[in-house]
Amino acid sequence: MKLAERVGQVPPSLTLSIAAKAKAMKAEGIDVCSFSAGEPDFDTPAHIKDAAKKALDEGKTKYGPAAGEPKLRAAIANKLQVENGLSYKAENIIVTNGGKHSLFNLMLALIEPGDEVIIPAPYWLSYPEMVKLAGGTPVIVSTDASTGYKITPDQLRSSITPQTKLFVLNSPSNPTGMVYTPEEIKVLAEVLVENDILVVSDEIYEKILYDGAEHLSIGAVGAEIFDRTIISNGFAKAFSMTGWRLGYLAGPVELIKATTTVQSHSTSNVCTFAQYGAIAALEGSQDCVEEMRQAFAQRRKVMLERLNAIPGLFCPQPDGAFYMFPNISKTGLKSLEFCDKLLETQRVATVPGIAFGADECIRLSYATDMESIEKGMDRLDKFVRSL
Ligand SMILES: *Cc1c(COP(=O)(O)O)cnc(C)c1O
Repeated sequence: MKLAERVGQVPPSLTLSIAAKAKAMKAEGIDVCSFSAGEPDFDTPAHIKDAAKKALDEGKTKYGPAAGEPKLRAAIANKLQVENGLSYKAENIIVTNGGKHSLFNLMLALIEPGDEVIIPAPYWLSYPEMVKLAGGTPVIVSTDASTGYKITPDQLRSSITPQTKLFVLNSPSNPTGMVYTPEEIKVLAEVLVENDILVVSDEIYEKILYDGAEHLSIGAVGAEIFDRTIISNGFAKAFSMTGWRLGYLAGPVELIKATTTVQSHSTSNVCTFAQYGAIAALEGSQDCVEEMRQAFAQRRKVMLERLNAIPGLFCPQPDGAFYMFPNISKTGLKSLEFCDKLLETQRVATVPGIAFGADECIRLSYATDMESIEKGMDRLDKFVRSL
């Protein structure tokens, strides 16, 4: 069979496959410490599940509008106004099957052959692949620990060409956990406005911040950047709803209409009763979000201390999300070999940095219980010392 060329250019998601391998090992009874999953380990809060159950019982089981339930679109617009200072109406919102689907819809609606999309590395592994699937060209700009893994205004400026259409911003970041300060966001916004470039701001980790780090949504900087901003967000990370498949995109009406057309011919509306769970997530108490954040904060402290106590590893302190991204280059191993050997010999699952465009690092998620963190760090320590 001759498959379409576009598929050959794109590898399958390495994070999903490693997480699956670790889960399969666990199912076989092998004692694996898994730091590979990009999802909170908590159950979805009860009031959110109850709202979806109620919707199910009330017969919210039919097709709905492709762009989402009107009540949910309005609730999202309200959230963006109140929490992020962004003036959107319901017509500026599309509800999607997760943040990943938001971004995919966006790339299909916006990007065509010849278009360049600037993506700072380390990046979330799906960004470049989505750009390629849409026929565009990802332009990867490498950053390192010396700038806190953040793209500088000069780096951004010098990677812009006449073909540049979009800049992908992800703060707090997966995989590095770094958070751009409001001041840094403002300066990047200036460069984008000067050069008339669109920005998609992936804000899926906006609620998971530590030690007073602040999240500024780039669209809130001013009217000129607001017109060039698309917000991608979802319910997976803040509300521990990864399996629900619920995300959204906010932006100019013309673009939201185009993404709705794409969605209307691909997935149609998001599961109708699940959307009622999302309404409850936005309108109910936010205490659950804070409780999970506090648990992450404790684990972060322990994992960071343990990692930096291992000779040969170096991990800068992340300000958000739930990942550590230590540099392993002093061990002499590349990331894939490091992660393979670590899983084989010590039963610790991590993700090679090469998946995120940084072969000198590995990613560990601390969205897991403290006991596994302690045990996993003991094993990692033993592994590195054995090299
Ligand atoms: C998890 C994640 C998403 C979206 O996940 P969904 O489960 O599709 O909502 C988007 N961007 C980043 C950086 C993520 O880590």
